[in-house]
Amino acid sequence: FAQIRLSKMPSKKTKLFMASASFLSTIGKRLEGKVAMVTGGASGIGEAIAKLFYEHGAKVAIADIQDELGNSVSNALGGSSNSIYIHCDVTNEDDVQDAVDRTISTFGKLDIMICNAGICDETKPRIIDNTKEDFERVLGINVTGVFLTMKHAARVMVPTRSGCIISTASISSTVGGAASHAYCSSKHAVLGLTKNLAVELGQFGIRVNCLSPYAMVTPLAEKVVRLENEELEKALSTIGNLKGLTLRVDDVAKAALFLASADAKYISGHNLFIDGGFTVYNPGLGMFKYPEF
Ligand code: NAD
Repeated sequence: FAQIRLSKMPSKKTKLFMASASFLSTIGKRLEGKVAMVTGGASGIGEAIAKLFYEHGAKVAIADIQDELGNSVSNALGGSSNSIYIHCDVTNEDDVQDAVDRTISTFGKLDIMICNAGICDETKPRIIDNTKEDFERVLGINVTGVFLTMKHAARVMVPTRSGCIISTASISSTVGGAASHAYCSSKHAVLGLTKNLAVELGQFGIRVNCLSPYAMVTPLAEKVVRLENEELEKALSTIGNLKGLTLRVDDVAKAALFLASADAKYISGHNLFIDGGFTVYNPGLGMFKYPEF
């Protein structure tokens, strides 16, 4: 680069270097030319996905109900030519329809839908203490919200015979006892929707998958566990299977990038765990524990 700055007329060698640098930066971008919409993109995992997708060349629509945060994430991605923020409550079908239509009217198409918006209620150990209102509130956002987002993604993807839909499920899509009854039911339902839609949309070449992360620090987890950052990470590492490593939102974003990219071109109907082996581990047996640990 020093050579590029000093010389007015770049040499043949410099021109070759510049061409290969630009070629490498393009091939390094795995979503160049793609358009993505991320629900729940104002915070946590959704924000990390929006940022990583943008770094990989995608234009990104952030759909959320936290307007101030959503706008600031969108501005950080270079504003209107690269990213827009759209107020969208995923439980409201008009909002979801409008968000999808605005993404298309702004960026011309929709290649990737990330159904990520979600909440978790406090775990009350006895079912008798759980209210119908709490149960329905969680299912309203985590299941009906994902259903509506998938539905309107499919509405615009089927005519183009292409696209990719990824939802954020959880380890609670498969194991019991990791969160509330409502949350566990809702994430099992996200997996069910993923499988059913992968079957329906396969005939159009559209891939449908979900991500199942172990727990990590985000506003959602801090609210539920009532621990902050370092304390929460420590507690999660103690319970987690893979020691010495900490799951962060960027790790989930990288898994989403893989599923959204051409590297995953034949992967559909898949539940990708980012859980360090948590869901395959049965602590009851404990037969692989080294005595010194
Ligand atoms: P978060 O609270 O940081 O982000 C969730 C986002 O969803 C927020 O920006 C929120 O405003 C938005 N949202 C909530 N209700 C909405 C609605 N009705 N319409 C539109 N947007 C809405 O939490 P997070 O941890 O990043 O959660 C993202 C997803 O990841 C959720 O589906 C969650 O269940 C899942 N998940 C989280 C963890 C974890 O440990 N944090 C683990 C596994 C799965």
